[in-house]
Amino acid sequence: MTVDANGVEARVDALLVSHPPDRVEMAVFLGAQFDTGLAWVHFREGRGGLDAPIALQQVVDERLRAAGAPNGRMINTTAYGQGAATLLAYGSDAQQRRYLRRIFTCEDIWCQLFSEPGSGSDLAGLSTIARRDGDEWVVNGQKVWTTRGNIAHYGLLLARTDPAVAKHAGLTYFVLDMHQPGVNARPLRQMDGGASFNEVFITDARVPDTERLGGVGEGWTVSNTTLMNERYNFGNAPARGSGAIEGAVRAFRRREQSFADSGRRARRAALMKLWVDAEVQRLTSMRATVAREGGRAGAEGSIGKLAGSELGQRIAAFTVGLSGADGMLVDGYDAVDRTAGSPQRSFLSSPSSTIAGGTSAIMRNIIGERVLGLPREPDPFRGVPWSDVPRN
Ligand SMILES: Cc1cc2nc3c(=O)[nH]c(=O)nc-3n(C[C@H](O)[C@H](O)[C@H](O)COP(=O)(O)OP(=O)(O)OC[C@H]3O[C@@H](n4cnc5c(N)ncnc54)[C@H](O)[C@@H]3O)c2cc1C
Repeated sequence: MTVDANGVEARVDALLVSHPPDRVEMAVFLGAQFDTGLAWVHFREGRGGLDAPIALQQVVDERLRAAGAPNGRMINTTAYGQGAATLLAYGSDAQQRRYLRRIFTCEDIWCQLFSEPGSGSDLAGLSTIARRDGDEWVVNGQKVWTTRGNIAHYGLLLARTDPAVAKHAGLTYFVLDMHQPGVNARPLRQMDGGASFNEVFITDARVPDTERLGGVGEGWTVSNTTLMNERYNFGNAPARGSGAIEGAVRAFRRREQSFADSGRRARRAALMKLWVDAEVQRLTSMRATVAREGGRAGAEGSIGKLAGSELGQRIAAFTVGLSGADGMLVDGYDAVDRTAGSPQRSFLSSPSSTIAGGTSAIMRNIIGERVLGLPREPDPFRGVPWSDVPRN
């Protein structure tokens, strides 16, 4: 029986009664949320879902947020967003049972081991090698920009298993145990003062073949599920007038009396344009959610990702600009005010979402080719074995 909005609301009510958020531990609450099918409502029953339309997740999230319930999305972002969706699509029964609940409770943190020093946008060109050894694979290589790599229990690993075929065809996807001796993660300092991403060195690390997601040589297809879901999450917009644009409106109201008439009018006009763009982004994100119905993420997510990340950057620049010279003042490189809502911090971190999960240039390529049907980007090495393609 399909669960509708009333059914979902009734489950939220029951969850809040049986597990009052102010009286139970975060992992206990999230475990109960998973068991009652409210983790990812569009997932199957028993896997944290109810087989319900994905749009109903927003109803759940808003009700739980209003009730002060914990939310692990910002703690375990990679796993909540794209990891769980990839496990649901390609994981074995045993993997889904072992991993999904512990992902949702944040008992296991996950990272994404895709990018390498020589392969970011050209992900399919990556060099990390996995060689078969009986029932296991032995992995060697280096990853980079791995968010939470230093604290992760598991990594979504894309590795080359056949260098003798074309680059897209020789990849396989694994779940890597990050707590084994051959895995070494080193944090990298970012320009906003944080150090949330890492370089990860992998030396003779081992993966049982049972920890493969999808077939040998099918890693590219599996990785597309990960990336498409990641892009949808980047493009997700908050409720009308909330989030970054709410901060911009508040900052303008605080300062508007300090501007001369002409400056105030110009800034008000700029703010109105940003507000309208944020609303358009919210509606676009709703359309993308509907298009994603059935759990299949498509290229439409790239539109939301492109528009949302560039809009975020413009809003951050507007907000910090309201402070004039004060906007340039922070106490030091390591001491950037990291509290939510700090305009300086938001400004410094805002370019990151135009790079993470595929750059804006790559999103434009995807939209051009897969949404608009424009001619493909030329690739002189299409079909050439990876081992014969020149590399830096
Ligand atoms: C905050 C953050 C978190 C991240 N987290 C992770 C993570 O957890 N796991 C992970 O695996 N990776 C992660 N990344 C890495 C991210 O996926 C890559 O940085 C991104 O794919 C770009 O790759 P690159 O840095 O190698 O740049 P490059 O691919 O070298 O690109 C350099 C420039 O060239 C442009 N360019 C490249 N190719 C083309 C083309 N064909 N057409 C037009 N322009 C092109 C790009 O747009 C860019 O401007 C993260 C990045 C950031 C910023």
